[in-house]
Amino acid sequence: MTPDPLVLVIEDDANLRQYLNTTLRSHGFRVEEATTWEEGKKLTLQLGPDVLLLDLGLPDGDGLSLARELRAVSRVPIIVVSARGREEDKVLALDMGADDYITKPFGSGELLARIRVALRHSADPSAPPPSVVEVAGLRMDFLMREVTMNQKPVRLTKNEFDLLAVLIRHAGQVLTNGQLLQEVWGDSSRAHATYVRVYMRSLRKKLEADPTRPRLLLTELGIGYRLKPDK
Ligand code: CA
Repeated sequence: MTPDPLVLVIEDDANLRQYLNTTLRSHGFRVEEATTWEEGKKLTLQLGPDVLLLDLGLPDGDGLSLARELRAVSRVPIIVVSARGREEDKVLALDMGADDYITKPFGSGELLARIRVALRHSADPSAPPPSVVEVAGLRMDFLMREVTMNQKPVRLTKNEFDLLAVLIRHAGQVLTNGQLLQEVWGDSSRAHATYVRVYMRSLRKKLEADPTRPRLLLTELGIGYRLKPDK
């Protein structure tokens, strides 16, 4: 029997820590806690947790720099827990190697969904990516480069296909504009920042019932995009 997944909560707010601990334990996770940058780093290396929940504002340092340091030595999925309205911090955290972020205040349903996504993506990093992925009625065949939506074929251009491929392979995770540019165009320079927006608009036209109210390809305001895995 494999042990329950271990979540390390790095958070200095005692109330929030208590809430996270209780919620996670009642859903079958093991939980360890760190309250500072130093302790967070030490316990990550010591315990090898399956997921990190990382607060950005720690008393002895910035969670952003901790995410960067840990990413250099560990593949553990990092979910940043951040205060509302600090979009630049979230983008930076994601670009520095965090896998996702969740904004305070959040409910237990959202928290658990994010953790499940993070665990799924980290399950076996050495396994080859599947050649067919199906999410929320959208099916992509990467070998044949074919796409169907609710069994109906969808014709995509090369860039549209490549952009959608990145999103579906990271279904449920937020991806920054910089990450999408890098993945699809091999260039994260701001000069091409409009590419993502333009191609996202055309993808929505082809895939969404109402492109002005997307239910699959969601905008994360000020950050990037997320393909929503369930409707
Ligand atoms: Ca804090």
